[in-house]
Amino acid sequence: MWGKREVNDGKEDRRVVVKRVYRASDDDDRLSTSSNVTAVQNRALLEADCVRISLGRKLLADFFSYAKEMDVAIFTAIEFTPAYLATEKSIQVTRAPSVASDLESFDSSGDGITWLVEDKRAAAVIQFTSTLNHKARGTDLQTLTIHSFAHYVFGATNGTLVMADIQGTPATVRGNDGLILFDIMTHTPDGGSGLGDFGMDGIESFVNSHQCNQLCKRLEFDEVFPLELAADVLGPDVTDGSEGGITGDDNSAFSGDDQA
Ligand SMILES: [Zn+2]
Repeated sequence: MWGKREVNDGKEDRRVVVKRVYRASDDDDRLSTSSNVTAVQNRALLEADCVRISLGRKLLADFFSYAKEMDVAIFTAIEFTPAYLATEKSIQVTRAPSVASDLESFDSSGDGITWLVEDKRAAAVIQFTSTLNHKARGTDLQTLTIHSFAHYVFGATNGTLVMADIQGTPATVRGNDGLILFDIMTHTPDGGSGLGDFGMDGIESFVNSHQCNQLCKRLEFDEVFPLELAADVLGPDVTDGSEGGITGDDNSAFSGDDQA
């Protein structure tokens, strides 16, 4: 789904990874070497990626505060990858779009392809949840914390947001051996949060497969954030013709600038 390139940004030894979207879904022709995603679609999807990262970072900070207030020890050396968008521009030194961009020319405003830029990560990836399966595969504090965080996200957003495909790489976080989260997918009632959003099916998959661990219990999530679908996000009400529930046209939680 992603096209990635590793580049050196010219500063010190910092290595970054840039990526763009090549296929909008896994169902697309895997044998095709060229992208079927336009530059505009690519940018919109990458912007959605940045918004997800910003939202995740905010919710993670809230979760840490919540656990602190409850005096429950959790694994706190976790953070979301720093990320920003970079768009190729038609300036003197680059008269043509990069070969990697797969574009033949810049658009009328001089823009080429947009890339999502992230720090280069360790090769090792720890997968905590998949798109539709949110069961825990371990019992260490880091794993318990991630799954408990997933429950917090569901609860704190009144069941309107589920984080899926939670994965990370081992890294130093605030001086400790920790975890950098990246490429997180989300499920939202209207399915509009970007690639991999399965809408209500995705939200239901969390309700059905998340199993509360001891951290969830100590944080009293079973009482504060019960695992049930909120009545008002169950979908469009056929009688009023609205888009239904909390989502509707209110995408305020998903608006944001390019900086994540
Ligand atoms: Zn739980």
